[in-house]
Amino acid sequence: MTWATDRLPIVLPPLPGESLDSWIEAYARRLRTSSTGLLRFLGLPGIAARRLVFRLEEGDLKALARLADADASELDRMTLRSVARSDLLPQLPQSGDETAPVWRHLGRHSRFCPHCLADNGGRWPLAWRLPFSFACQQHQCLLVDHCPGCRDRPQLFTNQQLGRSTSGAHCMRLVLRDGRKTACRHDLTQTPAQPLPPDGTALASQQHLGALVQTGSPALHHLYFLSRRCLRSLMLSPRTEPEAVRLALRECNGGLLPDSPHDLADAGRLAIGTTLAIWASDTASTTGKAVFEWLIRTDQAHRLNVSATNLSIDQRLLSWGRASPEIVSRVIADADQDLPLDTRLRYRSAAHPRRPDLTDADIRKRADKIPAALWPSWTLRLLPNTRIDPRTVDGFRRGCRSKLLLAGAKSQHHPWAQPSNRLIIKMAFRRVIASPEHETAIVSCLTQLASHLDDEGSPIDYGRRRHLFTSESITLNLDEYTQLCRRQGWARGGTGRIHMLRWMLLSFLLGTHADLPPRNIHARDEFRYQVPPLMRGFLLEQAATNLAAHRIDEPVLWEPPTEWCDWTDWPGAAPEQISDSDFDTLIADRTSAEETAAALGLTTEHVRLYCDATGTTQPPPRAASPGLGRRRPRRGMLDPGFLRTAHSSGTLNQSLIARTADCSLSTVQNALEEAGIPATPRPEPLSLRITREELEQAYLHRRLSIPDIAEQFGLDRHRLNLLAKKWGIEIRPNSATSNPFALLPDAPALSASMAAISNVRNCVERLRRLVRLPGQRNLCAAARSLGTLPATLTHQLHALEKAAGIQLIERTSPLAATPAGTALVHEAEHLLNLLDAAQSSVT
Ligand SMILES: [Zn+2]
Ligand SMILES: [Zn+2]
Repeated sequence: MTWATDRLPIVLPPLPGESLDSWIEAYARRLRTSSTGLLRFLGLPGIAARRLVFRLEEGDLKALARLADADASELDRMTLRSVARSDLLPQLPQSGDETAPVWRHLGRHSRFCPHCLADNGGRWPLAWRLPFSFACQQHQCLLVDHCPGCRDRPQLFTNQQLGRSTSGAHCMRLVLRDGRKTACRHDLTQTPAQPLPPDGTALASQQHLGALVQTGSPALHHLYFLSRRCLRSLMLSPRTEPEAVRLALRECNGGLLPDSPHDLADAGRLAIGTTLAIWASDTASTTGKAVFEWLIRTDQAHRLNVSATNLSIDQRLLSWGRASPEIVSRVIADADQDLPLDTRLRYRSAAHPRRPDLTDADIRKRADKIPAALWPSWTLRLLPNTRIDPRTVDGFRRGCRSKLLLAGAKSQHHPWAQPSNRLIIKMAFRRVIASPEHETAIVSCLTQLASHLDDEGSPIDYGRRRHLFTSESITLNLDEYTQLCRRQGWARGGTGRIHMLRWMLLSFLLGTHADLPPRNIHARDEFRYQVPPLMRGFLLEQAATNLAAHRIDEPVLWEPPTEWCDWTDWPGAAPEQISDSDFDTLIADRTSAEETAAALGLTTEHVRLYCDATGTTQPPPRAASPGLGRRRPRRGMLDPGFLRTAHSSGTLNQSLIARTADCSLSTVQNALEEAGIPATPRPEPLSLRITREELEQAYLHRRLSIPDIAEQFGLDRHRLNLLAKKWGIEIRPNSATSNPFALLPDAPALSASMAAISNVRNCVERLRRLVRLPGQRNLCAAARSLGTLPATLTHQLHALEKAAGIQLIERTSPLAATPAGTALVHEAEHLLNLLDAAQSSVT
């Protein structure tokens, strides 16, 4: 070699888009040397073709630029380094290539377009060196992989002497010919290339891929993964593919299936795989969805050999472990409808599908932002507009709270999400959820609420409030309450009322109903719903005072904004859909909750939730009268006046009232609550709670039974029995039965015979029969008309006479009362009338 050492003798500019190695080779050919010879002369010996394709070190680049009179940065642009981000550059082949973030490396090979080689005299563009190039946009054909002469891939670089006899369009791979190695020298411009339709999907895919490479988009990673998946699905489940897939096959490969599932190595398979992958990654189009779903189904059918609906989420994700998070999220979303509710929440499959990634600490943080039951306006939206009892609503709200804590949780079992009353919640959800769409609404809404709470937080730290405020620790200013009552002309009420107010105050602070015994659910609902707005305002002020006492700067009440959930088709009723003015009109008319609900087409529970959510209350009709009262005044034995008298005289017996007034025990308790009478037993020890006089009065004179007295005084009946014996009180037979007339208003004193009879079992029923006997033809006829057997009637009459100690009825025809019996029959008639009047007044 005889050229000057500071400059090459000929200037050969690179072609636009040419690769560095192709240019070096063309240079060597012009200088009639080999590429390696040229590089050695340039002072860059031992540089492998691979390095030339990928990148040159800066020093080498500068030396080359100076010698060839070229621009160093232009030369740099002729290597793959300049094409894409370094982590997208083709790497050396790796085993387990789904992990490799790159498309397969082509090694020392390159695809080519025969038409381009013919046009530019055998110069090779850099684009062909990219392993994911499969089409020529200019000539609208697939690139070619193999040289027809040696049936091998054309080699990139050769050490052989190059010269005029060959051009870059000749295959320089060494082959054995007549026992010696020689270059193939096949003219590659003569290779047939498969044409592609100009407006087809393959060319569009190549363009799309090129753009992604230019921007170094990470989407390339999951396109690569999807391409391989698509080819595998084609191999494993031929003829199951959707129409879109058949179209791509026809276009790229003449409709032939690829013959290997694991390789994107040739242009045809690469074209099909890429085209399908680009479709599959399009989440918006129906074609995209169909192709992706086909991928999932073929995968499941192949790997698990079972139908999709029976698969657990783990089984479904089994073969997607190395897929990008976007793809995993689509597999989870696809499974959504088949998963159980808790799993849907943990994987957030209905709204933000992804693997659960939140630790117990994350969930605990969220738990502090949530009250113990779902907020009223959100319950209103999620609760179907069908008749559901208050206890189920309560269970549903508490259940929603614990389900809110499942969203995204790695662990299914953490202490904050597992409520103690799991069975109740399970039953409530079973009763509430009306359809699969309804369940989806709930799951989607809770998922979105949870994620917004995590991101945006809540102005209230309920965790702290639960820690600070209990029914004992809250303060209610009774002086201010008394003044408010005086100003408004309200009755102040007794301890029952104060108990309710404290309960409501605590409920405001904790954002949910504080726990009360279940039997009081009805009473507390009535109360919170009917409390006058002024009273409600007073309680909110008291709540703020409680917060201020702990230097907590938080609003008393708060609910997540509606925009936190994009659901629109609510199974229940959104508060914003209910007309305020309609509601106000109904309230002004003093309509009951049930009537308001009917007028608005809602259930009573929805009306109450609406009141909670909007802070509306519906004062009872008798607002001007003392007390917060109810719609219809209590009368008879449930009249507040009567109850208070009975309470102060120590004769109040709830179960006896219930039995006498023929109503339920809880009705009696509600009446007591309204009358402000404490329903709880007196707290003093037994000996202090009843005196000997009280016991004698109740047991001997009023003829109440020991169990009834025990209940009335809040005592244990067995201990009371012992106490009576200790005090020398004679225990009568049948002492478990009370005198049924003891509690009648204005009850007259009983005659001795009646007193004795009143202790007979079922005495009221027997007396009713007795009064109808005089005038009957005989006992047989009487039994028939009373609907009983003669023997029974005879036995009952005999028992009454035995208890009274006198004969009451002459067995004559017709039957007649004896003189002593006549007085008793009249007394019985009077008592029975009083009893009937008392009962009719409560029903
Ligand atoms: Zn071409
Ligand atoms: Zn060849």
